[in-house]
Amino acid sequence: MAIPITVAYGDGIGPEIMEATLHILKEAGANLDIDVIEVGEKVYLRGVSTGIEPSSWESLRRTRCFLKAPMTTPQGGGYKSLNVTIRSALGLYANVRPCIAYYPFVETKYPGMDVVIVRENEEDLYTGIEYQQSQGAVHALKLISRIGSEKIIAYAFEYARVNKRAKVTCFVKDNIMKLSDGLFHKLFDEIGEEYPEIAKEHWIVDIGAAKLATSPKDFDVIVMPNLYGDILSDVAAQIAGSVGLAGSANIGDAGAMFEAIHGSAPRRAGQNIANPSGLIQSAILMLKHIGEGECAVRIENGWRRTLEEGIHTYDIFKEGSSKQKVGTREFAAAVAKRLGQKPETLKIAVDTGKARIPARRLKERAIEKKELVGIDLFIDYAGTTSALKLSLDGVKTDALTLKVIYNRGAEVWPGGFEETCCIDQYRLRYLSKAATPLRDAEILQLLGELAKAKIEVVATQNLYTFNGRAGYAGAS
Ligand code: NAD
Repeated sequence: MAIPITVAYGDGIGPEIMEATLHILKEAGANLDIDVIEVGEKVYLRGVSTGIEPSSWESLRRTRCFLKAPMTTPQGGGYKSLNVTIRSALGLYANVRPCIAYYPFVETKYPGMDVVIVRENEEDLYTGIEYQQSQGAVHALKLISRIGSEKIIAYAFEYARVNKRAKVTCFVKDNIMKLSDGLFHKLFDEIGEEYPEIAKEHWIVDIGAAKLATSPKDFDVIVMPNLYGDILSDVAAQIAGSVGLAGSANIGDAGAMFEAIHGSAPRRAGQNIANPSGLIQSAILMLKHIGEGECAVRIENGWRRTLEEGIHTYDIFKEGSSKQKVGTREFAAAVAKRLGQKPETLKIAVDTGKARIPARRLKERAIEKKELVGIDLFIDYAGTTSALKLSLDGVKTDALTLKVIYNRGAEVWPGGFEETCCIDQYRLRYLSKAATPLRDAEILQLLGELAKAKIEVVATQNLYTFNGRAGYAGAS
């Protein structure tokens, strides 16, 4: 029985690299039943702001396997990233990006580089939750959930176990984002204990990124929240040789999407020059995922053999070491001709038959005691801190007391310095006067008093404790 998959040709160089990839899949005898859908620029420009029609969702939900060429997101506001939409709608939480050097056939500073970036795919700063509440500032929400983090961290460890990788490293910035990145780091330590045979390591993302860019041999599998993973997987792919060579898998419990990590390169479109390798690599990941491992390694070995023979597209062509500069179609034909051959210098790919990472049951957690202990109020206020404090002196409530005034992250009252640059948004921290939890009515009373004092509250954030531990930053 042919395995149903959905294919989208995408925009820019997309159709050319997809044709090249499908040609190789056909020649390799991949047993696929292909349903083609249209997504991306044309759909956006027809007025569908998500870039995808309902009938295409039906195809994706039926096949649960999507091979996608890159798409162009039209310039200007109002167009939602289709990649982000598909990943979150289908629950594709793990973005796996192998970054491998093919030295000496593809130029790289790091021969032997073989790093797999496992990027969280559904949350962090990519949920698109953004607000403007005053003329001078916007907020974007960085959302890190326990379930989201547990799933991706467990995936990284399972991936390492299945693929016999020795180490998993975690990159976060929890010296600054103590709660959000702190949760990710804590869960990394906790879940890591279940994998005693795998080495564990943690780096603050800035120095970790510097080390990755200069000494990639020190890394094996790296797991990261969404934003760091997005940026650093491009860096890793580029230093391995070229972003044009790397494929990616977006994996969920009930579906998967495979795509090159590069974009639609519109300036290269229609000239038969683009390198189809990133999409070919993605197709190889797809074949392994759907259990067609044997076909996958035939293509992988033929592709490696083609690189070894110096048959290169313009982006990796090097005078002296490359033998033949070819276009997209000719490169695909060269790979197809070498199906069944094995590389002589590069590693020979073998079918382990174990590409699917088993889903891990999440741990049951005891219910924590949650208590409301205060509130942070964001206000639109363009005056000085001392004028604000004067107005707030007239705002009294029975249950709450003003503890701190912040501007951006800096405390401006009761501490603070004149030098602090203040914007038109202050944050007022009110805490409960009593040891007992607050009631909604007490918060509403405070909001009423602030309204009477003509102080414009633009956003509120409740402050809770969980089993007595503060669930907000700056508690101590
Ligand atoms: P890009 O990756 O499309 O191209 C950057 C440059 O890299 C190109 O100009 C080209 O020189 C080179 N390049 C990329 N892929 C190549 C290939 N296969 N062969 C040879 N050279 C290649 O990045 P961009 O120019 O920033 O983005 C163009 C469009 O792609 C934008 O609309 C962006 O939104 C979109 N994009 C889509 C995806 C996706 O669909 N997954 C990902 C990233 C960007």
